[in-house]
Amino acid sequence: MRNGPLDPNELPGDEGELSLRPRYLREFIGQEQLKENLRVFIEAARQREEPMDHLLLYGPPGLGKTTLAHIVANEMGAPIHVTSGPAIEKSGDLVGILTNLEEGAILFIDEIHRLSRTVEEYLYPAMEDRKVDIMIGQGPAARSVRMEVPAFTVVGATTRQGLLTGPLRDRFGIISHFRYYEQDALFEIVKRSANILGYTIATDGAEEIARRSRGTPRIANRLLRRVRDFAQVESLAEIHRPIVEKAARALEIDHLGLDRIDRTLLKMIIERHKGGPVGIDTIAASTGEDSQTIEDVYEPYLLQIGLLQRTPRGRCVTDFAYKHLEIAMPPTKESDPFSS
Ligand code: ADP
Repeated sequence: MRNGPLDPNELPGDEGELSLRPRYLREFIGQEQLKENLRVFIEAARQREEPMDHLLLYGPPGLGKTTLAHIVANEMGAPIHVTSGPAIEKSGDLVGILTNLEEGAILFIDEIHRLSRTVEEYLYPAMEDRKVDIMIGQGPAARSVRMEVPAFTVVGATTRQGLLTGPLRDRFGIISHFRYYEQDALFEIVKRSANILGYTIATDGAEEIARRSRGTPRIANRLLRRVRDFAQVESLAEIHRPIVEKAARALEIDHLGLDRIDRTLLKMIIERHKGGPVGIDTIAASTGEDSQTIEDVYEPYLLQIGLLQRTPRGRCVTDFAYKHLEIAMPPTKESDPFSS
């Protein structure tokens, strides 16, 4: 795992995040399309006095999936039960959770792609018909009994929609895709967080943090805290661009939000594989990260900002990557049909 300031996953020290979490849709910044749709679905369900349809949230870590699950509960005035794919080990665990839900509750399942197939089988009838099968008795006398569970809404979160089985995906009436945040949304998030944490931040300071946050609110909030440490040690009352630049230099984060590992990864593809194409496992082996981390954490952002490209034959760096790293492009690369 990345484990630096740019890790989009939750790390120790992020506990203060709780106070920064928007609680209602109106406080949730960015993701306009997704928010607009959800507003309609929530409103419609409330008018019908029914739980909302099952909702699948997918996108890279740190973009607000957990936050949004809690917002749905708050907006619906419903209790929320939080669990995760790996935490539900046995079908009995799931049955226990389902039978104890309050009417209308939200069941938030993080990393839902990691549910075991057996557990999934138990979840299907519950999501569809509010029924679960429980085993009564043991040995030859054991029999399965169908039980009714309270009406509820599953909010599932995943970083990898592709890893979800077809039948599970089909049981979600609403599928919402999170995109990396635009600069101006991140700017608003940084301003809002600074305000909650009681820091004074200038417009140029917030812009500079937004620019280096990889489109990810969790990273924006974490960078804000680190920058504030630098500002505090220098007895600055306000966070301005120069202190953000100084902190970023110390943390080795460049103006695109890349850290040392991103740059090593791109350089490795250029220097050892002539710019690609190269398979994900080879990238993983040469960088010492596992391929899932590369696919979940590093690659999506590098693809998004156009430094990396997926081709049928593997990953390639783009001309922009050569330019960003200030490495001269080899003449042969210009004739590669996948390189432009
Ligand atoms: P995920 O579940 O996708 O990994 P989280 O919901 O835990 O991400 O979000 C990480 C942090 O980022 C939250 O604690 C919250 O402070 C902040 N955050 C996420 N989305 C937004 C948003 N749209 N507006 C403001 N802050 C946000």
